[in-house]
Amino acid sequence: MDKKVVVIGAGPAGLMAAGRAAERGLDVILAEKNDRVGKKILISGKGRCNITNSTDIEGLIENVPGNGNFLYSAFYTFSNQDLIDFLEGYGLKTKVERGGRVFPESDKSSDVVDVLLKFIKKSGVRLMLNTAVKDIITEDNCVRGVVTEDGKAMECDSVIIATGGASYPGTGSTGDGYRMAEKLGHTIVDLKPSLVPLLAKQEWVKELQGLSLKNVEITVKSKSGRKLYTDFGEMLFTHFGVSGPVILSASRHLLDYDYKDVKLIIDLKPALTEEKLDARLQRDFEKYSRKQFKNSLDELLPQKLIPVIVDLSGIPSDKFVNQITRDERRSLVRLLKNLEIEIVGSRPLKEAIVTAGGVSTGEINPSTMESKLIKGLFFAGEVIDVDAYTGGFNMTIAFSTGHLAGMNC
Ligand SMILES: Cc1cc2nc3c(=O)[nH]c(=O)nc-3n(C[C@H](O)[C@H](O)[C@H](O)COP(=O)(O)OP(=O)(O)OC[C@H]3O[C@@H](n4cnc5c(N)ncnc54)[C@H](O)[C@@H]3O)c2cc1C
Repeated sequence: MDKKVVVIGAGPAGLMAAGRAAERGLDVILAEKNDRVGKKILISGKGRCNITNSTDIEGLIENVPGNGNFLYSAFYTFSNQDLIDFLEGYGLKTKVERGGRVFPESDKSSDVVDVLLKFIKKSGVRLMLNTAVKDIITEDNCVRGVVTEDGKAMECDSVIIATGGASYPGTGSTGDGYRMAEKLGHTIVDLKPSLVPLLAKQEWVKELQGLSLKNVEITVKSKSGRKLYTDFGEMLFTHFGVSGPVILSASRHLLDYDYKDVKLIIDLKPALTEEKLDARLQRDFEKYSRKQFKNSLDELLPQKLIPVIVDLSGIPSDKFVNQITRDERRSLVRLLKNLEIEIVGSRPLKEAIVTAGGVSTGEINPSTMESKLIKGLFFAGEVIDVDAYTGGFNMTIAFSTGHLAGMNC
């Protein structure tokens, strides 16, 4: 009789794992509690799905601050290029954007879901929608089956837990996999929000709500001034603080620190050194010498930012530009290159792009994704204690670990 496998969760990890296992001739049930597969894929990358990244394998690992080394086997066995080839094999053309981010050429995440549906259908997976798994049955530390929410038992030889993390619970990722794994003796490393918007102390940050800055450099510094992290790109001001790509990545970095011990510094003009920015200001000030200070920054800054910078500069807003002293101008330069924001926390786990923490990697065989505690139990995707920066790395983790689990279950 065919070996029977139940895969729990039809996100990228579960869909890949189920398809691979079925291709090997196993009898595979894919249980998904929603009425459709891949809900998180659909909202990923703002509806465009940043599928993977075009960097090399070392680059992939470097972009996984949460236990990257655990993923060597997974990435080497099924790499970013293998993923692109797989998707293109099903007719999904891809394109590479800034920072090596790979997207469907169509800009439609639904096209990725369509490919995965075709894949599981072709390989013979039995998809059970509206089916939430509640428990995994074991005997002598071997998997024997699963029980669904409505009390139905299904016998099987292997189970792959691909239930995702605990963020964006509306997509179905409500942390069920952690509970099931913990019941079977697995350690769950503390769950924390990663790639999450940050809360700022200063009121002026909230006044800038809706403002997006495209080319800024952000630096995370310790209170003593030591540089801990720096990044360049786009950020956004919100009604509670800051968000956008560079902030989300910084939030992962900040996980290792207490917020009160660090500060966020924004360089609004990273392309200009202090000297060049000073020279630029001198030119603007000459041009607008008869204007008041508050009316002299139109060419340098977005409109919304001007009153805030004027206020923070300490230079009276109605002072005539030709009366601004050299010291005042110099301190304005320093402000533009070192705008300080005090971070006081982050938005909650449910609003994080990924969940850091999860099933301890020390208890999973990295070459097979099998549990070291329970025979026949496998893990794939975000439920594992791995997490990456933005740029397509988290999807890659899901697909690569899903592939490995599906090939070894
Ligand atoms: C807004 C947003 C945008 C993102 N954009 C990107 C991006 O562009 N690129 C990128 O790399 N990453 C992105 N991510 C992260 C990425 O989507 C996830 O890391 C990835 O989807 C994890 O895949 P997974 O298969 O492990 O889990 P999920 O995609 O979360 O899938 C888990 C599935 O398991 C099901 N499930 C859970 N419990 C049960 C149960 N008890 N029984 C049955 N089924 C169950 C859920 O319903 C769900 O369908 C984004 C995340 C968010 C929230």
